[in-house]
Amino acid sequence: MDDRKFRTAMGKFATGVTVITTEIAGEIHGMTANAFMSVSLDPKLVVISIGEKAQMLDKIKNSKKFAVNILSAEQQELSMIFAGQIKEKREVSFEQLDGLPVLSGAIAQVACEVVNVHIEGDHTLFIGKVMDIHLNEKEPLMFFNGKYRVLSAEGVLASK
Ligand code: FAD
Repeated sequence: MDDRKFRTAMGKFATGVTVITTEIAGEIHGMTANAFMSVSLDPKLVVISIGEKAQMLDKIKNSKKFAVNILSAEQQELSMIFAGQIKEKREVSFEQLDGLPVLSGAIAQVACEVVNVHIEGDHTLFIGKVMDIHLNEKEPLMFFNGKYRVLSAEGVLASK
């Protein structure tokens, strides 16, 4: 099977968009990611998947901590900055949650400590134990078919 077919199929799974943040030796690094999932309620665990070529990989291996910032519909530009889709260096300001840098205005900020690491193919899965959460009532930024989207106001379906 060719890579394009696989990528196209995976792009059919509509997701939110996060920026993963961490800090090592006083330097903050952020990376856009949609490979994020809740894993367990007790204990509270999440997973992120980081590609082998990403700078973020060694940063999290060293810091053993990361935060997941779930972006709001107004934060597409931040997603583009932290995915390298905007090339010029931009100044981004951060807040702190449980000693980790987080993005203000994110609809959820989730601070995690790495409790397990699994290398699978060309990605590394980091299992994070959730240490703290901060929420913000806003609409999410979405990603589907390789494009950014927002939820439409009429998009809520009645449950049967
Ligand atoms: P770099 O490419 O060095 O950094 C990324 C960008 O962030 C650079 O432009 C850098 O200048 C900027 N930046 C970093 N820190 C700061 C800071 N403190 N202040 C200001 N700017 C800063 N890849 C995955 O591995 N897993 C995924 O789940 C994933 N999901 C994605 C989902 C979407 C919607 C998109 C668009 C991309 C996704 N990617 C994913 C790809 C990933 O975001 C890019 O490959 C990214 O460039 C890799 O970042 P890096 O850690 O190598 O760092």
